[in-house]
Amino acid sequence: MSKSTKTLKGKPRKLTARRLMQKFPNLQPNDNCLTNIACPECGNRDQFRIEMKSVFTLRDDGTDGYEDTDWGRNAYCQCGQCQHEGKVCDFIFAGLDDLLHTANEAND
Ligand SMILES: [Zn+2]
Repeated sequence: MSKSTKTLKGKPRKLTARRLMQKFPNLQPNDNCLTNIACPECGNRDQFRIEMKSVFTLRDDGTDGYEDTDWGRNAYCQCGQCQHEGKVCDFIFAGLDDLLHTANEAND
């Protein structure tokens, strides 16, 4: 059975950093852990739930602190505001914070 039906790749076009800024004109810049990360649905930049890898100290009575955290682009990510879910890469907008900083400097 070799049917040559082309499967439509239902890949939704992702917003660019510029389009995200047009959609959410009040985006605030981040400059640390959340650089270039934003929710494509609601524009939240404050907090996200992200599946992370880390090394914990485990004792009989539980865990005790953790060391460096790490996450990949394909890790699970959920918006802390609207609960939009996806992968980290769906929330990354390359160049977003450079654009925001430039825009802010222009306004000063
Ligand atoms: Zn959101």
